[in-house]
Amino acid sequence: MLIPSTIPIQSLNHPLLASKNIELAIMRLDLVHPGVSGNKFFKLKYNLEKARKEGKDTLLTFGGAFSNHIFATAEAAKAEGLRSIGIIRGERTEPLNPTLSHAESLGMKLHFVDRETYRMKAEASFINQLKDLFGDFYLIPEGGTNKLAIRGTQEIIGENESQFSHFVVSIGIGGTFAGLAASISPNQKLIGFSSLKGEFIHSEIEKLLSDQPMLSEGRYEVNSEYHFGGYGKYKQDLIEFIREFYQNFGIVLDPIYTGKMAFGTWDLIKKDFFEPESKILMIHTGGLQGNVGFIERTGIKLPCL
Ligand SMILES: *Cc1c(COP(=O)(O)O)cnc(C)c1O
Repeated sequence: MLIPSTIPIQSLNHPLLASKNIELAIMRLDLVHPGVSGNKFFKLKYNLEKARKEGKDTLLTFGGAFSNHIFATAEAAKAEGLRSIGIIRGERTEPLNPTLSHAESLGMKLHFVDRETYRMKAEASFINQLKDLFGDFYLIPEGGTNKLAIRGTQEIIGENESQFSHFVVSIGIGGTFAGLAASISPNQKLIGFSSLKGEFIHSEIEKLLSDQPMLSEGRYEVNSEYHFGGYGKYKQDLIEFIREFYQNFGIVLDPIYTGKMAFGTWDLIKKDFFEPESKILMIHTGGLQGNVGFIERTGIKLPCL
């Protein structure tokens, strides 16, 4: 899988932006690969390389039933001619939701475990049990964040993005944020919007960054005020925002990650958080595969691909 040499960046025009004298653009990582959308592409890149070097023919990873990471790993394994196993939290229910049925159709073996077992996902004893069950594999942690993933996400922005004063991105586990934090310049600022409820994310991010050999030269900030109730939770104003964003710009957002990030950015622009003449780049991290399942699960109409 090759990362395209240029990733599309689209400028957004809107009266609010003009009135605040702010430039806003969006980097379309959702378009980097037809299956492995968004940041997951970058997180998998060096892990796939290592799996190949180690001569592994199987990837094994963990995720929830609607996981973008499970979807992306199944796609990447298929593209690379590797086998893949997804350890899924919860019970198998038929028919499978669109995320899981797609993963299975790509050849991923789905193995369902209860929540208690799932919690052991990082424990050596559990991993060894999985090795007894499935044979040898290359292990990718839940959400795909490890050192190699962060090396990959450092490649999202580079010299082409030197014109921007601010970057905004969604945070799940923080691997993408950490890579971006390491690649910005001293005169640039990164703001991450946590899609999970709670203040733990501040220390998680500090831990991720301190584990890395690189130090951030730019400034960064974690915002934990736009989680809309927590991971996978939403409120009507978030749904309305995603619909309006689509009407205004023709760009689809997801309600789990990118919708919250874009809502937060828009709200902070309204509240004059950004100085006039700021040039903001939103990173669209993808995740749109999940919209079909979200609509099925909630009955709420959202734009889809
Ligand atoms: C996984 C994911 C994120 C979060 O990435 P982390 O590196 O875990 O913080 C953000 N947006 C989308 C669309 C994702 O799928």
